[in-house]
Amino acid sequence: MVAQTDLFSPDVLDPGGAAAVLPMDRKMICCAKCKLSKSRVNVVLGEGCMLTPPVMFVGEGPGAQEDAKGRPFVGPAGRLLDKMILAMGLTRESVYLTSVVACRPPQNRQPEPDEIIACTPFLLAHVAAIRPKVLVALGATAGRTLLHTRQGVADLRGRWHSLGQAKDGIPVRVTYHPAFLLRPDGVQCKTAAWKDLQEVMKLIGLKTEASAP
Ligand code: URA
Repeated sequence: MVAQTDLFSPDVLDPGGAAAVLPMDRKMICCAKCKLSKSRVNVVLGEGCMLTPPVMFVGEGPGAQEDAKGRPFVGPAGRLLDKMILAMGLTRESVYLTSVVACRPPQNRQPEPDEIIACTPFLLAHVAAIRPKVLVALGATAGRTLLHTRQGVADLRGRWHSLGQAKDGIPVRVTYHPAFLLRPDGVQCKTAAWKDLQEVMKLIGLKTEASAP
């Protein structure tokens, strides 16, 4: 029974959240739209809060551990992401974690254009249903896919972007992928990544005194 006062809430007019996400996830589990479906062990569905989480993190694609377990960000990059989320004052359960492609690219190569094109409608439909307050694109593949650009992280980070029209658009921040931050050539970008996350914290009203992960 819907309370009278809730009648004009967007959630009542258009349920979104789990009611919209779970049927999409059921479709994704049997998706064979691209060649990654032939080599995957599991389709790695997004995970976390399905209705207006403060942040939706978008990675590139599952790695070996994610493929084996069927869960996003459970390998080394995921452990660093967990620390980043906690340092922001959030929890893994309170945000939503997903990637541009839901199936592991073999040998952890970057997803190819046809694979990204096949999976992007699922990603965008999830964003529309979940309505995060902010999108954080982790790495160039996520930044390019969400913002429809060919620019790299160094060009895209350090400022706000929008997915959709300015008024109804979702703010997007691009930062480094945690897998890159774990590499010897990426370690020096940790400070910049933390600055990006502090801008996200400011936008969602979190105190930024918290110490870096
Ligand atoms: N990297 C990603 O981009 N996504 C995952 O789920 C895991 C690692």
